[in-house]
Amino acid sequence: MERSYLIAGNWKMNKTPSEARVLAAAVTKMKCGANTRKMIAPSFVCLPAAAEAIKGSDVILAAQNMAAFESGAHTGETSVLMLKELGVRAVILGHSERRHVYGERDALINEKVKLALAHGLDVILCIGETLKEREQGRVNDVCFGQLEGGLAGVSMEQMARVVIAYEPVWAIGTGKTATPEDAQAVHAACRGKLAALYSKKIAECTLIQYGGSVKPDNAAQLMAQPDIDGALVGGAALDAESFAGIAGFNI
Ligand code: PEP
Repeated sequence: MERSYLIAGNWKMNKTPSEARVLAAAVTKMKCGANTRKMIAPSFVCLPAAAEAIKGSDVILAAQNMAAFESGAHTGETSVLMLKELGVRAVILGHSERRHVYGERDALINEKVKLALAHGLDVILCIGETLKEREQGRVNDVCFGQLEGGLAGVSMEQMARVVIAYEPVWAIGTGKTATPEDAQAVHAACRGKLAALYSKKIAECTLIQYGGSVKPDNAAQLMAQPDIDGALVGGAALDAESFAGIAGFNI
């Protein structure tokens, strides 16, 4: 079956609201090839400026995280209801920086995944091994555990709104990219795990993005792999020209 591609820019803690407005407006003008969608994930405070800049375009607005609760005494957190009111349609959850810098575990990520889906947001669930785990030969174990933990209680129907992003931690922001063949092997294994958790059909329909130092000059090779359905892009999404080079990988 033919899946679409999703190219998502995770701006992390970069860009002020006025800079976000300019970059978001530039993204609306970028041409994607057939079957490819564009998404941007600015920081929380940049969401209103970005939402205004992409109004009426085909760019999808995403958040980089959200609270595991709807509302209440959670100082410093941002709720799904707040995000929805700003026009956010998707949320990145379980990013390796959330896992490894802020100590988020699968159980917390799973609460967020379920809450986002229950409120109608799409979810990009990030998974991926550290260098140590790779060297120990535990890549599949780690990724399968994160899939199982992050998706616990997510229904078959809800899986239509879940995208998986395989992001080997050692490749994020380091300039090191998994070879297309290595990435493909993990993507295929994760698709197999989704088939075991859900069904072959759901596994075949689920987009699995690759993330980790994706650039215009390696995007096409990565996307040419049969199980790689797009990219979650950090550094290269902060520059309009390089993001355009990735979003337009097939034109
Ligand atoms: C990311 O933050 O998800 C990411 C993949 O970053 P980079 O492209 O900079 O490696």
